[in-house]
Amino acid sequence: MSTATPPLGRRGLMLVLSSPSGAGKTTLSRLLLAQDPEIAMSVSVTTRPPRPGEIEGKDYFFVDHARFEQMVEQGELLEHARVFGNMYGTPRAAVAQALDAGRDVLFDIDWQGTQQLDGTVAPDMVKVFILPPSTEELEKRLKTRAQDSEEVVAGRMAKAADEMSHWREYDYVIINTDVQESLARLTTILAAERLRINRQVGLADFVNRLRGAD
Ligand code: 5GP
Repeated sequence: MSTATPPLGRRGLMLVLSSPSGAGKTTLSRLLLAQDPEIAMSVSVTTRPPRPGEIEGKDYFFVDHARFEQMVEQGELLEHARVFGNMYGTPRAAVAQALDAGRDVLFDIDWQGTQQLDGTVAPDMVKVFILPPSTEELEKRLKTRAQDSEEVVAGRMAKAADEMSHWREYDYVIINTDVQESLARLTTILAAERLRINRQVGLADFVNRLRGAD
């Protein structure tokens, strides 16, 4: 009788989180990263100025327009988009490195970036859209964040309706009423997606050995 060792490897997945700004996506990302060492965060580049407390290389890589354009021209970005008048993009190299190392990568990107990734790396993606429980709650969260000017908050509220219209382009929707509950849901999604057959490396060989086929 042949012995069958379970498959060891797992193909890393690309977990995309999108939401209107203020829906709680950043908090949720932080909690997920803190509890799961198998996930690496994709740190975007942006031309937006840093907010108080934001750390270069952790929250974003802050660059000027010239450097951003250069990165686009040299193909250094996996996707990029203009959001609220600033440019944002996902550096290609870091994502490849993390996936090669067998880690999952978490992306905090908007629907435009998600569409671009969908065109190139769709099988590796798990797309989750985070919704606020209500318009009032969204506005409250944007205001209590208090890091943006009133004009910026008003602009973001106006954009929220547009952004939310893209929910159908995602695999999952989480209504973020309670952050711990949302984290539990996200963890469940991740656990199931990691078990998909296309992500379990060596499964075919394993089953063949189980069946005594070799
Ligand atoms: P914020 O300025 O509040 O940090 O981000 C504004 C929006 O830009 C958020 O919806 C965020 O998901 C999106 N964003 C951040 N980084 C990227 C990126 O690399 N690509 C794209 N397409 N969107 C991004």
